[in-house]
Amino acid sequence: MSSKHSEAETRAEFGFERSVCACHECTANCKFIPGYLVPADIERISRALGYTNVVTFALENLAASPGATVMNAEGRVFQIPTLVPQRKANGSCKFLNAQNRCSIHAVSPFGCAFFDAHQSTDEANRKSSRGLQEIAGQWIAGRSSLYAMIWRLLFSAGHRAIPPQVARRRMEEAAGK
Ligand code: SF4
Repeated sequence: MSSKHSEAETRAEFGFERSVCACHECTANCKFIPGYLVPADIERISRALGYTNVVTFALENLAASPGATVMNAEGRVFQIPTLVPQRKANGSCKFLNAQNRCSIHAVSPFGCAFFDAHQSTDEANRKSSRGLQEIAGQWIAGRSSLYAMIWRLLFSAGHRAIPPQVARRRMEEAAGK
């Protein structure tokens, strides 16, 4: 086992352990809905790809997504904008390689690394809520937030991801649903 592989296997975030499955079902999202980054992913992925400047990394690799639609305890619906990997012309994640594998597996975004097609909806919701809570905190922090600053920069520069619900519909259509 390579040290890179070990790093991926043992990675944890918010008390969750990463998933490592790369079956057809699990990589389907990579072709349509690349997972979102939590704040810690920005520097982690940037560093792993050899960038010394996170803004350059973001401009070359990330996009501003309208993000997740969530409902709070009072029933108010709101949007949490997220950073996601840029897509290729065919809509798949730019990090999906020709062998249908993630080229940044060891450091893939939280929205990818901690989810797979075999976990329960409850587990996926728990993880997703935790990640989105972290991102919401960045938006609340306002000007001091690197996450929000990068999102705004990408949005202004035209690096915008399609809404997740549009990508999900395309995925379902491709699967014949
Ligand atoms: S970063 Fe990797 S795991 Fe995430 S969508 Fe892209 S190819 Fe798939």
